Amino acid sequence: MGHKILIVEDEKELADILGAYLEVEGFEPIVKHDGQEGLKAFYEKQPSLILLDIMLPKVDGVRVCKEIREKSEVPVIMISAKSGEMDKVIALGIGADDYVTKPFSPLELVARVKAQLRRYEKSQNTAVTYDKEEVKIGELVLDKGSYSAMVKGELLSLTTKEFDMLFFFAKNPNQVFSKEQIYTGVWGYTGCCDDNSITVYVNRIREKLAKYELDYIKTVWGAGYKFSL
Ligand code: CA
Repeated sequence: MGHKILIVEDEKELADILGAYLEVEGFEPIVKHDGQEGLKAFYEKQPSLILLDIMLPKVDGVRVCKEIREKSEVPVIMISAKSGEMDKVIALGIGADDYVTKPFSPLELVARVKAQLRRYEKSQNTAVTYDKEEVKIGELVLDKGSYSAMVKGELLSLTTKEFDMLFFFAKNPNQVFSKEQIYTGVWGYTGCCDDNSITVYVNRIREKLAKYELDYIKTVWGAGYKFSL
């Protein structure tokens, strides 16, 4: 299942719209309408990210955020009706990771959600460590400088393009890519892609990893592929 995203927002219509957008993107939204219910859901559901309105009934968003921060580093994006600089200062001061002001586009918020999840995953010990040249994730070590791929300490034989594709996936774990995005990311230019060739490359890489009982490249039906451990 997708990441659980907790939405704490007392404007019910807005909360529902955000939930619907996140659901389309494969997330599992949990909607609560006051701070008390929001905190309860934080403890019970352990969401991957929290969208938190500042002005909330019962317990306001600032207090909710502070309490969450005492327990967890989970990404928090604050939502506010006010566009004052003061709010920004407060949001960052209480440990929120990002901040949006109403009205905002749901798509923009979804993009920020994804960005925060990526950042958070990268900051976790189990996640990828990545600089320009090297990716270490799971059982894989990919060195772009020498085009060498190691699996469980053994050299994995890959063609240049297979390496490029695996490198592209491995440095963006848990992110779903369409065939077109893969094409752009690996071949470096846009334009109509040959769907088939992407499938062929993915299958070759999968076969090679399968020898080590690894199944890192997952098919996301109707959307594309993603790398996950
Ligand atoms: Ca509100």
